[in-house]
Amino acid sequence: MNIILLGPPGAGKGTQSKYLEDHFKLKQLSTGDMLRHAVATGSPVGVVAKSYMEGGKLVPDDVVVGVISEAIDALPKETAGFILDGFPRTVQQAEVLDQLLVRIGKNIDAVIVVDVKDDVLVKRISGRFTCAGCGEVFNDFFRLPQAEGVCDRCGSSSFKRRSDDNSDTVRERLVVYHQQTKPLIDYYKVKGKLHAIDGELPIEDVKRRINEIL
Ligand code: AMP
Repeated sequence: MNIILLGPPGAGKGTQSKYLEDHFKLKQLSTGDMLRHAVATGSPVGVVAKSYMEGGKLVPDDVVVGVISEAIDALPKETAGFILDGFPRTVQQAEVLDQLLVRIGKNIDAVIVVDVKDDVLVKRISGRFTCAGCGEVFNDFFRLPQAEGVCDRCGSSSFKRRSDDNSDTVRERLVVYHQQTKPLIDYYKVKGKLHAIDGELPIEDVKRRINEIL
């Protein structure tokens, strides 16, 4: 089973991806995580991506498509499926993805759009931090680790915050989402694959809705 999680930054795609990894044994493929890793290691992709990411802009399609193609190709044969988190983000990327999937004989079973209002997103993003070990997502306002300073999922005591989770960059990322990524909702609706979820519901309710869909 292969799925796309669509939605603005802070909608909960990362949180739900971790749940889907644990529950359905799918592999999360987050272009944002891959690009952050590329920037951190100073790879050629990272050198190109850095300024776009810092400004809250989209990294050029050809760069991102290269990154995601390699990640899909590298999946072990026995993988139960993948979750695309943060890709595609433009109609052009979706079209390239369609071609790529035809070429490798795979398809997307469901596209789940998680919808949240902009003012809620800004607050969520300003409080979020992730486990440095497994990527589990926490939040100063909404979800602290159950034991202070210890990840609920993997037990790590190391956490990190994203440099692009500041208020100016967040506003730009939301503008980019509305202008460039939202048209994908119609793109997948026409294909009959779209399922919408209210991402302002509590995390457990969103999980339940995803379960019902899958
Ligand atoms: P994310 O972690 O998904 O919020 O992505 C963080 C940043 O990485 C975005 O603001 C973009 O600069 C870049 N990025 C991630 N995925 C894509 C994509 N599919 N297309 C273009 N840029 C992307």
